[in-house]
Amino acid sequence: TTRITLAQRPTGLPDDSTWAVEKVELPGPAEGQVLVKVDHISLDPAMRGWLNDVRSYLPPVQIGDVMRATVTGTVVESRHRDFAVGDAVSGTLGATEYALSDGDDLQKIDTSVAAPATWLGALGMPGLTAYHGLHEVGEMTAGDTVVISAAAGAVGSVAGQLAKAKGCTVIGIAGGPDKCAWLTEIGFDAVIDYKSENVLKRLRQTAPDGIDIYFDNVGGDILDAALANLRRGARVVICGAISTYNDETLAPGPRRYMSLLVFRARMQGFLVFDYPDKDAAAIADMSALIGSGALVARETVVEGGVEDFGRTLLDLFEGRNTGKLVLKIA
Ligand code: NDP
Repeated sequence: TTRITLAQRPTGLPDDSTWAVEKVELPGPAEGQVLVKVDHISLDPAMRGWLNDVRSYLPPVQIGDVMRATVTGTVVESRHRDFAVGDAVSGTLGATEYALSDGDDLQKIDTSVAAPATWLGALGMPGLTAYHGLHEVGEMTAGDTVVISAAAGAVGSVAGQLAKAKGCTVIGIAGGPDKCAWLTEIGFDAVIDYKSENVLKRLRQTAPDGIDIYFDNVGGDILDAALANLRRGARVVICGAISTYNDETLAPGPRRYMSLLVFRARMQGFLVFDYPDKDAAAIADMSALIGSGALVARETVVEGGVEDFGRTLLDLFEGRNTGKLVLKIA
């Protein structure tokens, strides 16, 4: 198999020197194992964090290790009683063409419900992130004014549509006219193009009574603009801060945090893995919304080989994706 390993820890943006392409001969599956042929590799902003040698919610990827990645694929050989040849699966098997698995972190996916790439997006980790972030952390209620950054991305686009389905007023912040037009098309009440508009001013216009939930995917100046426009009792959901992931030095913290005092608001971070008991119900709920047309699952599918992994990852930081970014292995 061909697979991507970490050659060197990056400072700033990863580049070609970050990765190595490794070719190895995999043995056949041992008793209790399956061999999976990978068809889609998920690209996630969190991957940038896993390259840093720091204490975090998961151990860093070590130099020489296969890059951690969630994938979908097909079982091509099985010596595991729960998996048969031909089963469609997803799991964290890494940036590789083929992988052996003992089945522990492998799930069967129902490709009659949604295509494999959607199981990495709206019905996968990003969808669950949007769902739990809004419900568990944001305590979303009908009528809330909800603002979402990186709104045209994997998590953001699901979050916005879930909030609409709940009866909220939804304002999306995204980069560029195409993304903003798409958000309007899928039902966002207002959109702000942070690349060409003043976010602070536009939030005041579009949320004149203030924000009940700010679902933050980007951090930085946009977080500050949202903090300046809260409503009493607001929930600021810290999902991610992609605008800072490649920074070489720490930026100054949120300058507007005293808004939390003024508006008796709270700011809380969370991880998608925090609510395992609620995952199945969330997936069922979102599958039904996809079925009814209330939730549009979109993916940006880049076709290539595993050796395109590093280059494709950069698309996230350049905003080249709309919806979930995946690499489809040719
Ligand atoms: P996206 O599909 O949203 O892709 C990233 C997007 O971020 C880009 O398309 C780009 O959109 C935007 N972006 C990139 N750089 C900047 C910048 N400097 N300022 C503003 N926007 C930027 O990725 P995901 O949906 O997978 O992830 C979104 C966020 O959610 C990330 O912060 C991620 O770390 C976080 N996350 C957190 C989880 C958790 O458990 N807490 C789980 C999963 C994701 P644009 O063109 O609009 O700039």
